[in-house]
Amino acid sequence: MAVATGVQAAGADEAVELSGLTLPELERFVTEKLGERPFRARQIYRWIHQRAAVDFEEMTDLSKELRRRLKERAGIATLRKDLELRAADGTIKYRFQTSDGRLIEAVYMPAEDRRTLCVSTQAGCAMACTFCMTATLGLQRHLTAGEIVAQVNWVNGELVRAELASLRPLTNLVFMGMGEPLHNFENLKTALAILQSEEGANFSHRHITVSTVGLVPMIERFARELDVKLAVSLNASSDEQRSAIMPINRKWNIASLLEACRKMPLRQGRRITFEYVLMKGINDSEQDAHRLAELLRGIPAKVNLIPYNENPGLPYQSPDQTRAEAFREILANSRIAAFVRQNRGRDIAAACGQLANRDGST
Ligand code: SAH
Repeated sequence: MAVATGVQAAGADEAVELSGLTLPELERFVTEKLGERPFRARQIYRWIHQRAAVDFEEMTDLSKELRRRLKERAGIATLRKDLELRAADGTIKYRFQTSDGRLIEAVYMPAEDRRTLCVSTQAGCAMACTFCMTATLGLQRHLTAGEIVAQVNWVNGELVRAELASLRPLTNLVFMGMGEPLHNFENLKTALAILQSEEGANFSHRHITVSTVGLVPMIERFARELDVKLAVSLNASSDEQRSAIMPINRKWNIASLLEACRKMPLRQGRRITFEYVLMKGINDSEQDAHRLAELLRGIPAKVNLIPYNENPGLPYQSPDQTRAEAFREILANSRIAAFVRQNRGRDIAAACGQLANRDGST
């Protein structure tokens, strides 16, 4: 059965993917296509986004007749779990197959005070960063809003089923999985509207972070149209260095990127996170740290230093621990909040930049 991405897109024999519809869109579907009253949409929406239902049969407050008609006209979860890997630190990597056979990954990271899911927005990625494993896949396709939301709903349901957490288990979302979120802006925006809606999973803007490679015009749209936190993958302290590892820098250089960040209106107390992957001998010198501090002057910033996660076939290496710490200290001395990020799930290839459909045994 083919799956369409919106109410209008659905032809007579196509099923509408309900997990990607906002509540008003679902209301339209329920009233116009099924001739039902609008409150039915609310019931269905809650089943999908608050109770992680994947089968209309679970929706016991709908009549059998309505469930049957829904089954004919619509689908819920178009993702099928295809692999699950558990790391020693509690991280779980889930690999899903889309209805057209693409493989995407989502990574669950439990901590004492939060349970975070790292979500994918594309199958593969077009940005071609030289150090990232996902880039080696190229862009296969954008994920639909329904496929983005379904990762969250599926993992929420699974955590309850597996008794790893109780009701509404995920507390935080980071859009740092496969793909460039701002390259798939419309679907990201719809997915966020669903995930942040009160009748849905109701995530707070404080608990969602979207990370970008630095698509400058899209950062402007981000500021106008979305209300979540922004992370920027900077990864270098000069244009020469950045262009060599991140081709996007040849189009939008560091100055234009940081200008967009400076111009971005921020909520009270909110800061922009800058990710900086430390690669031995590439961007991890003391001079780099000083230059980075200079670049970020005047921006409400927080820096996440990510020691490189090594990948088979890619020539980059992790820095020594002492180097990461020294780098952080230089930033701290310039009064820039910096943290060396703990690497999670490295043993199952679930860490940053390692998502590339491997089964973790390599
Ligand atoms: N495309 C978006 C979302 C992906 S986030 C972005 O670039 O921000 C993935 C993060 O992991 C990015 O900050 C990227 O710089 C980082 N990364 C990529 N490969 C890595 C690796 N091998 N080790 C550590 N971090 C890596």
